[in-house]
Order: sequence, then C-alpha cells, then structure tokens
Amino acid sequence: MNASFPTSRPSACPGLMRVVQARDGGLARLRLAGGELRADAAHALAHAAMCCGSGIIDITNRANLQLRGIHDDAHARLVGIALDAGLGPQAQGGDDLRNVMLSPLASDATRALCDAIVGAMQRDPALHALSPKFALQLDGGERLAMLDHPHDVWLSATDDGSRYAFGLGGTVPHRIGDAPALGSVARDDVVAFVLSALHAFLARASNEEHRMRALIARIGLPLIVDSLSFDAVRSDWRRAPADASLRFGAHPMPDRAAWYVGAQPPLGRLDAATLDALADLASAHAQGRLVMTPWQGVLLPDVAESRTRYVIERLDALGLVTDANAPLARMIACSGSTGCARSHADTKADAHRLATLLRAPVDVHLSGCERSCAAAHPVPVTMMAVSHARYDLHVDARIAARNLSIEEAAEWLARSHADA
Ligand code: SF4
Repeated sequence: MNASFPTSRPSACPGLMRVVQARDGGLARLRLAGGELRADAAHALAHAAMCCGSGIIDITNRANLQLRGIHDDAHARLVGIALDAGLGPQAQGGDDLRNVMLSPLASDATRALCDAIVGAMQRDPALHALSPKFALQLDGGERLAMLDHPHDVWLSATDDGSRYAFGLGGTVPHRIGDAPALGSVARDDVVAFVLSALHAFLARASNEEHRMRALIARIGLPLIVDSLSFDAVRSDWRRAPADASLRFGAHPMPDRAAWYVGAQPPLGRLDAATLDALADLASAHAQGRLVMTPWQGVLLPDVAESRTRYVIERLDALGLVTDANAPLARMIACSGSTGCARSHADTKADAHRLATLLRAPVDVHLSGCERSCAAAHPVPVTMMAVSHARYDLHVDARIAARNLSIEEAAEWLARSHADA
C-alpha cells in the first residue's frame, strides 16, 4: 500500500474516517466496497482532492483510494464530501472493518455476499477492536484476481459458488506448494463463519497481535479453529489459475454480454483532473462505474465491444498504461521522500526514470525504506533506497548488488533479463 508513515495525530472525525499525517500533509484513506466507485462519487472525490488537499490521489494495493496533502483545516469538510458521496462506513468506528478484497471482475452475487459480510462486521461493536490492517479476501474464482496477498481470513469458491474453501493467515492456494485450505463452508453460512473466525481471533490475540499470522505463530492453528464449524475440503484442492495480465486492455466480461477495459495510472497515482476524466469516461461508456484493482489500476466495466478501442485511446491519452508490456506496467513504488519522512529517496521519480531506461517490463518494486509499504506480496526484484537516487538491489529477498544509481540498476536489470 502506498501508505506513508503515520503519526498518532488524531483525525478530525475519529471513527468515521482515518486521516493520518504524512510529510506532504494529511493522508485520507477512502475505502471502496470491492473497489467500486460510481462516477458521481469519483467526481466528488476529485473535487475533494482539489479543495481539501494537494489534488494527488493514489490507488492502493487493496483497491482503495488515498487523498494526499489534506489541509489541517479541511478534515471535516473532506469527511462530509465522502459521506455525501456514499463512501463512508455504515457505523461509527466501522471504517476499518471494510477491508474485504474482491476480484475487480467479481459477479453481482459475490459483491452481494461481500456486502453482507461487511455489513455484519460493522454492526458488531466487538469487531471494531480489529486492527485497520486486518484484511479478508472473498474470491469467486474469477480469472483476474490477486491471489498473492496474504489475508487474515480468505474464502474462495470451490465450485459454482455454493461452497467456499477457507484459510487463515495466508493466501488462496493456487500453486503447488501453497498451504492447503483448512475446510469449506456453504455460501449460506459464510457470514456466520466469518464472524465466528473474527471473534475467535479477538478472544485469543494479545494486545500486540494485530494479524492472524502473529496469533498462529504463537498458539498454532488448532486452537483457533477449534471453535469454528466447517466441513472438510479435499486436501489437494487448489483454485484455478488467475491471469494478472487481464488487468490491461479490452476483454469480454465473464458473466454478461459486454466488455471491460483495464489500465493503470503510472505507479498507481492520479491527479484530480484525471479522476474527473475517468468519471466522465465511465458515465459515457461504462454504465457510470469504475472499479479499482489491487494492482493499483482501474477497470471500466460494461463497455460495448464497439467502444473498447475508443476507451483505450482515451485512457492512453490520459496517461494511463494500457499495455501489459510497457515498462511501467509491472513497476511499483511507495510514496517516497515527497510523502514520507522515512524515505531515503524519491522513489516515484526514480521509478519513472528507470522506466524510461528499461526496454522490457520487469517486476520491480522501489522502496524508500525497509518497511516496503508498496508491496503486499513478494516481488522478484526490490530496489531498496540507501540514499538520494541510489539503491541496493534485492532478488528474491537476497541482496544482488549494492548502492546502484538508476542507470546502473537499469543495466543490471537488462543484463539479468537477457540472461534469463
Ligand atoms: S519510505 Fe518506507 S515507510 Fe515510507 S512509504 Fe516508503 S516503504 Fe513506507
């Protein structure tokens, strides 16, 4: 997530929406249900970004939005705009409970189940004690899905959606070697199951244990699952593979006679004018809907096949990446020194510079410090800033080269790409 290091300064509207302090001003997180943003709400947020902040908007790797540079005296106004746009929580203190990740192509049925889970969580005051980082995944088996983020609780449809496999503190199994599912539950029991899993976590977690994996590491899985009710699932069950490249360009929708078009703003960052333009494009060609993705991109769903070429041209003109082979397509960077006091370098600017020097797309993560906020899952190559525009380069979590300039890193990556 492109989160800058927060301080403990409280929000002007505690419990409704979190605004934390970053180097470039207030940082407001807007949680979107399953990544969905109506065009009218997008216009409202673009307006809020301009009048309450710096106009910079980041799409996060949880398919939410962050508005940056929020002025000290604008917190309440921002919250008001967001609530008027229908983007607030259903209950005081419920904002942090909306961390449920879906595929950007989730069906209406999966979205309805997600709404039921989030609604039940928000109505349960005991669950408001969960950490803002506590996260769930609901996976309907879509071909475009982020499967590599570890989630505290995940559920994945095993068939037509009548049953869901589940696991705690890990990822949906989709490769040989992944941890297997713990069991399965009927769709009708999913909400009750999630609530029982969350209560089981809270009943056993210490004050220092905010994530399921921390509790599992201390007491083991059996003690946590003892109180849950579920059926066995085949131990070799794995989800059908997903294809992340489907987040770019035009493709048929899986469940209706329409297409979608996907793109990414470079490094997940938009300005208010671009969000406004995206909202206009959605109103004209995508039934008024935008869907943010966990790759920090955006999909326009329900586009007529005959309009897909035009929509791609507009996205290109707005500066979004629509080609999976563009150097910026697989590059991520944290907010860097312009937004975070911890950063040793301007990671965003350096990533843009690196992209101009690369001839092929490489999965690269530029991080301002060891916290690695931008990467919620392992990335093959991480460039860890050590000073202004200089990086140590790590491959598969092992250091491969030290103190490289951007030009040296580009050469290193080109060589290793050629050798591969
Ligand atoms: S410098 Fe570190 S703490 Fe700051 S945004 Fe980057 S990774 Fe996160």
